[in-house]
Amino acid sequence: LVPIIAIDGPSASGKGSVAQRVAEAMGFHFLDSGALYRLTALAAGRRGINWDDEVGVAGVAVALDVVFEGEHVLLDGAEVAHAIRSEDIGVGASRVAALPAVRAALLERQRAFARMPGLVADGRDMGSVVFPDAALKVFLTASAEVRAERRYKQLAERGEEADLTAIADDLRARDERDRARAVAPLVQLPDARLLDTSKLGIDEAVAQVLAWWSE
Ligand code: C5P
Repeated sequence: LVPIIAIDGPSASGKGSVAQRVAEAMGFHFLDSGALYRLTALAAGRRGINWDDEVGVAGVAVALDVVFEGEHVLLDGAEVAHAIRSEDIGVGASRVAALPAVRAALLERQRAFARMPGLVADGRDMGSVVFPDAALKVFLTASAEVRAERRYKQLAERGEEADLTAIADDLRARDERDRARAVAPLVQLPDARLLDTSKLGIDEAVAQVLAWWSE
């Protein structure tokens, strides 16, 4: 049985960085499931397929030609690590993620990341749907204000125009879509540990997850 740490939570909670750092510390593999939804949105857009076209987008998701290599993400052989992080593709990812056929198309691809010596999986439904038997489930969150500030800084570092109010509105809309959707909604599971990082630095958050793991 492959040991799995499932880390779920809302956008810009710091989940991605914490999950990645925990994976490094443990020597585990890492799954950024959001990247698969982002890649699906990007690939669909490039093929002229509308983000609301469930059958069309699911077809793209099934056939996704993607390679993760350290910091690199290759889609159809071309580097897209930067392209999938844009705000526009984030919105697209959140739209295609609401389509049940798209989620079904990505399910086995996500499970294939579970390999020895272990996996840290980051997303919205890691503990509920993709890896319900995960040995440790964490619900990682932060206040709406802190999350908006974190996303603002991320975008500024990318040199993207950013407006704090617009970002806060966008995060709220995205979280509502994640929580309200019929399939695999974002929920805090009863068996998940709650990690609120509003007042925690990344080192402290990582240390908390490692401490839970070694309990
Ligand atoms: O985590 P990230 O912001 O990269 O994810 C992009 C979008 O993909 C999220 O806004 C969410 O709607 C969707 N997603 C999802 N299930 C996951 C991971 C991401 O629905 N496991």
